[in-house]
Amino acid sequence: MIIQDVINHLEALAPLAYAEDFDNVGLLVGNKSNKVTGILVTLDTLEAVVDEAIEANCNMIVSFHPIIFKGLKKITGKNYVERVVLKAIKHDIAIFSIHTALDNAQHGVNDMICNQLQLTNKRILIPQSATIKKLTTYVPKKEANQLRTALFNAGAGNIGNYSNCSFNVEGQGTYKGNEDANPTLGKKGENHTETETKITVTFAKHLQNNILSTLFKTHSYEEVAYEITTIENKNQNIGIGMIGEFAQSMHENQFLNHLKTKMNTKCVRHSALLNKNIKRVAVLGGSGSFAINAAKTAGADAFITADLKYHDFFSAENTILLADIGHYESEQYTKNLLVAYLTKKITNFAIILSKINTNPVKYF
Ligand SMILES: [Zn+2]
Repeated sequence: MIIQDVINHLEALAPLAYAEDFDNVGLLVGNKSNKVTGILVTLDTLEAVVDEAIEANCNMIVSFHPIIFKGLKKITGKNYVERVVLKAIKHDIAIFSIHTALDNAQHGVNDMICNQLQLTNKRILIPQSATIKKLTTYVPKKEANQLRTALFNAGAGNIGNYSNCSFNVEGQGTYKGNEDANPTLGKKGENHTETETKITVTFAKHLQNNILSTLFKTHSYEEVAYEITTIENKNQNIGIGMIGEFAQSMHENQFLNHLKTKMNTKCVRHSALLNKNIKRVAVLGGSGSFAINAAKTAGADAFITADLKYHDFFSAENTILLADIGHYESEQYTKNLLVAYLTKKITNFAIILSKINTNPVKYF
């Protein structure tokens, strides 16, 4: 197994195309063609984690947060980022970061928090827009079935619980090839009319290369006529944050205790208690102040996130209970999610969960 094989598994869980634009996901250090000796999973790639990987004979680190976030202009070891990169290169260790790709994935960071808290009826809090594309192409009628099947097999035509979705209409296609043309149907230099089927299918944007190569491979024409457009429909299966419900509502104090226990955190910073029961809960692992309004709009009784500032707590405005459980704490179980997932996919060597607590925040 090479590093690219591991990346393919990770991309099946969280396609890198789901990541936010500001992010830096993917293979940050290393050669994707190298054979993998072992995989270490961590939240942050610190020097001690690279040492742990060396010790455990793992030449690939799968890290939630990217160690390289902004551009590196010099790598001399003057700060921890440069030292990690130097050490990883020196010991031929690859570093892969999944970050907001996994934040936005259906079975990612926030799904894990919901499961940890025993929330059900889960749905994405802020569904991503502009992730669905539409392909329209024109194919000789007798090839339509074959092309549709090939496009479905490449991942097109899935809408919610339905697969093989397409729209088809018949019409007359016309063309005239010049002297360099080699038309599959008709003769060069002559007008030709062919009964064609116009096929329209939708697909997730990260599948575009696969869909297009399938189209060109399957369609018999020398020049394939097609259009790709991005549609504005929100994708309910991709996006940041999640909202779910407790089977039984609980009082605020009970809720905060539940939060402390299940999320293994020593401290919950929260807005004023509302003296009401908590049933619907929005969650967003990591820095989530930007989603306070989305949580309110979705009718959440409480919003669990991290990195809330002083003024963010005012915006609760006695309508929602805001709970800041700590950045590390909110994302800590993501490591377990990745280990469990990779262990299911890769059976010929162990996937190791880093033993190092990389939380830079300490509590007194
Ligand atoms: Zn984070």
